[in-house]
Amino acid sequence: MLNIQTIRDNKDRLQEVADQKGIHVSIAQLLEWDDQKRKLLQQVEQLRQSRNKHTLQFQAITQNHTANGNNHDTPEARQLKLTVKEINNQITVMEARLADVEQPYHSLLQLVPNLVSPDTPVGLSDADNIEIRAHGEPPEFDFELRDHVALGELHEIIDLPRGVKTAGTRNYYLKGAGAMLHRAVQQLALDLLLQKGFTLLEVPLLVRSTALTNTGFFPLGEDQTYRIEGEDKWLVGTSEVPLVAFYGNEIVDVSEPIRLAAVSTCFRNEVGSSGRDVHGLYRVHQFAKVEQVILCEASLEKADAILQEITHNAEQLLQLLELPYRVMTVCTGDMSQKTYKQYDIETWMPSRQAYGETHSSSNLLDFQTRRSQIRYRDAEGKLAYCYSLNNTAVASPRILIPLLENHQQEDGSIYIPKALQPYMNGIETLVPSS
Ligand code: AMP
Repeated sequence: MLNIQTIRDNKDRLQEVADQKGIHVSIAQLLEWDDQKRKLLQQVEQLRQSRNKHTLQFQAITQNHTANGNNHDTPEARQLKLTVKEINNQITVMEARLADVEQPYHSLLQLVPNLVSPDTPVGLSDADNIEIRAHGEPPEFDFELRDHVALGELHEIIDLPRGVKTAGTRNYYLKGAGAMLHRAVQQLALDLLLQKGFTLLEVPLLVRSTALTNTGFFPLGEDQTYRIEGEDKWLVGTSEVPLVAFYGNEIVDVSEPIRLAAVSTCFRNEVGSSGRDVHGLYRVHQFAKVEQVILCEASLEKADAILQEITHNAEQLLQLLELPYRVMTVCTGDMSQKTYKQYDIETWMPSRQAYGETHSSSNLLDFQTRRSQIRYRDAEGKLAYCYSLNNTAVASPRILIPLLENHQQEDGSIYIPKALQPYMNGIETLVPSS
């Protein structure tokens, strides 16, 4: 959330950004509500002052009369009493009007997007993202390659039909070496983060709606989130939510950036992607993610350095997995409401003959922390909102797509990258059972 003065100062730019991000909000309407709200607040304040003045006068008169042993029910006292009653009635009416204005004002305020960095490309979708670097060469196969679903069947490590039987579409089982690989990539990613000084948290995955609102996922992402019926409990789509919410309403010490990591299951109903990526493990309802979240002081320079750092952490993981990838600067139309600057990392997926998104690295400035009320004391001792950033370290099973497909051999066996072997009981190659 932005503060209203920032919105006022940047109203044209913010309307442009909202349009570019595809968010339906009228900044002019919001400012109109804000004007009305301010006027009403001013009027209510004036009425309260007037009521207090008249109340004091009434008390002074009645005390005076009582002290002198006179009847205090004088015409003047009665008039003052009537005036106070009349003002109270007016205050009640004005407060109701204020509530009528505050409700749509707050609803609109929740929809205002974050500003975007000046170097963010303008575009409509991921097709307009811009590659800034690539690492590794997509392999050339001189045999007919198998996709991850075929490899999964061959090795009996991915079972989609049984996933659907048990849980419906976009569900799966991983079995044997498949389930081990799923855990191995997560543990490798986590160990990498722990070596870099991240603190591991085990987090709640069923959270209150306030946690989702305060971290910028609600209201816009509400229809994409699973809810426990009849309760204000929601399944998180990413551990970014409980990681940031951990410090909600607190004053933190960010003299050193706070580096948090979590390994969690993520749940997404993928309501907006019906018919998209229905084959295999690319887009599923339940997956695991190792997440990095960093809180730092409100410095554009420091936050940008951290964005590079968390992006490099993910790149390092992909290099350990010996996978070709590229880093993209994400355009306005492919960004979420809360994002100021974003890189996506896409990993080569042979069956798609294309790179597919595997990581998303974002700088949110103080958008989340203002909603979540996470502050720190700056050098002058003044309270300020921190900046927050996040990136995937690894998300599985999506990462199994490039892992299985890029490392397949002609006979169907699959090479296990050296860095993963210790997490796979030393297995160097997966060999099909028959
Ligand atoms: P996000 O939190 O949306 O930025 O996503 C981070 C990463 O999680 C993506 O780059 C994917 O690797 C993975 N991911 C997101 N949604 C899904 C999904 N529905 N199924 C599988 N993996 C997903």
